Amino acid sequence: MNYLTVDLYKDFECVADACLNTCCGGWRIEIDEKTYQKMVDNQERLGVPAKEWISQEDDTYLVNLDENGRCPMLNENNLCRIVLKLGPEYLCTTCMGYPRSLRIFGNVIEGQLSMSCPEVIARLMKKPQVQFDLTNDERPAYPFSHTALYLFASSVRTCIVDLLQYPADVSLVTKLFAFFDILNKAVISFKNGQTDFELFQEEIGQYFLEETLLALDNCLMQGINESSRYQFLLHVQSSLEERSGRFQELVCQVREYFAKNNADAFAEHIDKFKEAIAEYESFYINYWVYHIFLDAMIIPDYENVLERFIYTAAEFCLTQTIALVSFVNNGVLDKEEYIYIISNMSRMMEHNHLFREELTKRLDNFHAASAAGVLMMIIA
Ligand code: SF4
Repeated sequence: MNYLTVDLYKDFECVADACLNTCCGGWRIEIDEKTYQKMVDNQERLGVPAKEWISQEDDTYLVNLDENGRCPMLNENNLCRIVLKLGPEYLCTTCMGYPRSLRIFGNVIEGQLSMSCPEVIARLMKKPQVQFDLTNDERPAYPFSHTALYLFASSVRTCIVDLLQYPADVSLVTKLFAFFDILNKAVISFKNGQTDFELFQEEIGQYFLEETLLALDNCLMQGINESSRYQFLLHVQSSLEERSGRFQELVCQVREYFAKNNADAFAEHIDKFKEAIAEYESFYINYWVYHIFLDAMIIPDYENVLERFIYTAAEFCLTQTIALVSFVNNGVLDKEEYIYIISNMSRMMEHNHLFREELTKRLDNFHAASAAGVLMMIIA
């Protein structure tokens, strides 16, 4: 068996009570039946009857979050009562594994870390460049009927990562534009039954020439217009969900910002914000490389990969909009607040059909919002 992971995977450690945005709240927490039974069996040691904090919906057991949207097992120091009173082996599989998850593709297991965990984001901010670890052992492969697609799609993914990490002096938007075009070509190639990567490579070789990227950069930079960006962000920010706590305050501030500021004020703010985020240049590459590793492998429905990246682009636009408003209101972009915003946006996107539906409606209603259009709206 082969194991492919991002290099943070092996050494990742939860920071527990020092976490900037605990995963024990702010979203739906499901637990498995076996864990529910353990909570019933140990309710005296835990000091809370299981029925008081876990409810059942059909076959699903759900944690009843408190009025602040937190798991009631979280104590005032942000530590888990189950771990403290019973031990970590009593946690449900979701809590035990998070933010790690595994995907199995026959003889390859890919290990991922979710970006909704702020510690993952903090580590990505410190890293000059994301690397990958590949190891193997003697374990047998799982049955898998899409090996040819996996090999093709993972080669495409590797080449997109190379492109993003390619040291050309061009904007992030240009690299994302090129990456999206490569992905689009890969999907067309797949739909035509052509999954020979060597042939495909000839088709996309132009993107690995610095002069091509520079010419594209020149062309795209002329096409970016702050007034259209303002209209786009004004339109999509209203899809942001109501949430409890600090994130809700940030969402309200975004609404107020667009009510008070016109496109000219926005253009001025963007210039200053870009100076403030210059230090995150390598983080943005890491962010997208990470997303490509997590999201570019949709098998067997490979064509859906394009839709997934439009959401990722929209998520990034919204993240940067909230960060911009925080920067305008506070005069600085606080790093911890920024991490908190990124992890919350990631949480809003994960497993949240209602938000995705709302976002889709808004993207569909906005005539310029083709995939390329959304990428042009990114602030970086
Ligand atoms: S979000 Fe990450 S760092 Fe925070 S409590 Fe959960 S696993 Fe730990």
